[in-house]
Amino acid sequence: MMDGAAGPRTLLKRLREVMAEDLSAQDRLDKIVKHIAQNMVAEVCSVYVLRSDAVLELFATEGLNPQSVHEASLRVGQGLVGTIAATARTLNLEDAQAHPAFAYLPETGEEIYHSFLGVPILRSGRALGVLVVQNQTKRIYREDEVEALETTAMVLAEMIASGELEGLEKQGAGLDLSRPLSLQGAALADGIGLGHVVLHEPRVVVTNLFNEDAEIESQRLQKALRSLRISIDDMLDSGQVATDGEHREVLEAYRMFAYDRGWVRRMDEQIQNGLTAEAAVEKVQSDNRARMMRQSDPYLRERLHDFDDLAYRLLRELAGRPHGPLSDALDHDYVVVARNMGAAELLDYNGPNLRGLVLEEGTPTSHVVIVARALGIPVVGQLHNVVSLAENNNAIIVDGEEGEIFLRPSEEVEASYAEKVRFRAKRREVYEKLTDKAAVSKDGQSIQLLMNAGLLMDLPNVHQSGADGIGLFRTELQFMVSSRFPRPGEQEELYSKVLDAAGDKPVTFRTLDVGGDKVLPYMKSLHEENPALGWRAVRLALDRPALIRSQVRALLRAASGRHLRLMVPMVTETREMTQVREIVNREVELLSRFGHRVPISLQLGAMIEVPSLLFQMDDLLNSVDFVSVGSNDLFQFIMASDRANPKLAKRFDPLNRGFLRVLRHIVVGCERHGKPPTLCGEIAGKPLSALALLGLGYRSVSMAGAAIGPVKALLFETDIARLQERLLEEIQKPYGGQTIREFLTDYAAANGIPY
Ligand code: PEP
Ligand code: MG
Repeated sequence: MMDGAAGPRTLLKRLREVMAEDLSAQDRLDKIVKHIAQNMVAEVCSVYVLRSDAVLELFATEGLNPQSVHEASLRVGQGLVGTIAATARTLNLEDAQAHPAFAYLPETGEEIYHSFLGVPILRSGRALGVLVVQNQTKRIYREDEVEALETTAMVLAEMIASGELEGLEKQGAGLDLSRPLSLQGAALADGIGLGHVVLHEPRVVVTNLFNEDAEIESQRLQKALRSLRISIDDMLDSGQVATDGEHREVLEAYRMFAYDRGWVRRMDEQIQNGLTAEAAVEKVQSDNRARMMRQSDPYLRERLHDFDDLAYRLLRELAGRPHGPLSDALDHDYVVVARNMGAAELLDYNGPNLRGLVLEEGTPTSHVVIVARALGIPVVGQLHNVVSLAENNNAIIVDGEEGEIFLRPSEEVEASYAEKVRFRAKRREVYEKLTDKAAVSKDGQSIQLLMNAGLLMDLPNVHQSGADGIGLFRTELQFMVSSRFPRPGEQEELYSKVLDAAGDKPVTFRTLDVGGDKVLPYMKSLHEENPALGWRAVRLALDRPALIRSQVRALLRAASGRHLRLMVPMVTETREMTQVREIVNREVELLSRFGHRVPISLQLGAMIEVPSLLFQMDDLLNSVDFVSVGSNDLFQFIMASDRANPKLAKRFDPLNRGFLRVLRHIVVGCERHGKPPTLCGEIAGKPLSALALLGLGYRSVSMAGAAIGPVKALLFETDIARLQERLLEEIQKPYGGQTIREFLTDYAAANGIPY
């Protein structure tokens, strides 16, 4: 049998030569199986490749009947080979025929062989085929033999992934790697996008598998590990991530894994067996991924996922590209695919060809999604494992309406989507025609439809969307996308441009809302157990007033001679508004004293996002000029349900009776003071929930620009007085019967309201 460490080394050396030879794919495969059989003193070596119809086809064999090549086949799950592909697990058997899964293929003549070693050909944890050796004598293959065969399978995985074997399969069937996939996730931002995959953290494609000198490779691995560890330590120590609990936890786990001796040892063993450092990382990563796929415990799965990310980082270190540069793929239509990303990172990808975003995580109110909506691109999230299933440059369709994606879509799917895109374009034309029409309901009530914004690129939308103004300008976005604190002059310039763009339409600026999920990369902050409930927004502003003072000054200057509406986020107690008012008054006074023009009018409002305000409505309304409901945060706090946690994203419906009663309570409180509220959370832009808001008495709502057309179309068909009467009755009914969502859906359908 194979003699210790020399065996795999010699085999890999042979394979390297075969890979370098100028051969047809079939000849190369035939040579590979011959070498493996020889080296492992096996009587049989065979390669089965997975086709798109879930059949494993015999592609090459040494030892079995040569006539059966491209003839013999097994379905995934059938026989030993099918079992290996289905489970992505190695099978090492002394007597194959005694195994319950054994299926006899008469055309191969394999009945005389007893011992059987089959390994999955893995790529990104997926089995693309199976590699088998067999012997007549009954024996269990040694661990080093198993390792050698698994490593050899990597070579085959590369051959399959590179497309070299395409066309060899039985006519009419494609290979699995080109198999179209459709995956259902969560619809996070509306729209349809067609393009090619750009992986946010591109996988480094390992092409050089075999090393010349194990010592040199081992040193390269050590060096890459050192810089990986330093970069993780830096990220943790720089305080960049201090406010972001979840991110920090992940990094802490990375740090632990980066020092994991078992991991390093396994990679080093692969190098000693003849692989390059990159190939060794990939081999161990591939084993890990296969384990991850089999793992049902979500916690362990998640930890294995972390290992996976770490391996990517290590590969990029080895390739000398630690930060994953953008690919040239951005020259044509592209869709960014990521596990998760920050709002600022998405902006790095923004360009005329960006068509969509696909995330393994993500929730409707997470910041990257809000920014994507501002960019007008569709987002589908909560697609488990999509990063491993997608390859750079794969064709992809993102359906942000249904929350579905299509990877490597068939021609029919592409054609039907092209049709859908045309249909949507027509519908958009219809909405565009509504742009200049006043937002008046069927029963003649005027509604203020405002737009949410935060970046310069939103501004053209103020007019294109037909919005009545900007109901929420998220000033923190400028801070989040910047690499340092924007200077007062830069802030003033942006605010001026916003007011210029809005012309005589009203704009409500929100003062800095940082902390929680809104992290400024350059701002050092403390680690908090519960950042959403922590030192954020107005709390931070009042404790460190220099920041809010300079922002207020910039706003006052930008609005000199014009109207200014200022809104404060995350107010918990009325007295916070009094304190902010003092700061604002002081700045007004200072500017006037130094001869600067101040705004013609100044209105100060509070956002209702913290439930405590619901119980001090009168006090609050006595101390502010207006209020705006931040339903994203209010919902998260009322329901005790983290808005950024994908596991909870679909759990509670914002249209539940309890939450709607809360929203109604706010309207009633505001009516007592003659200060009608606005609502500026994401629910304002969803037609059915917009309908609910109208029924609850909201007459001013602020939403993403793209939602204004659909909401206006709905408004034209709605008799608000009638709806309100019915809805207010409905929300008081006990839980248990028809849900409000069902009620509204029926109501809209019965009254010809487009939703
Ligand atoms: C909200 O909380 O509803 C809101 C509008 O603010 P943000 O989403 O920026 O927290
Ligand atoms: Mg908020």
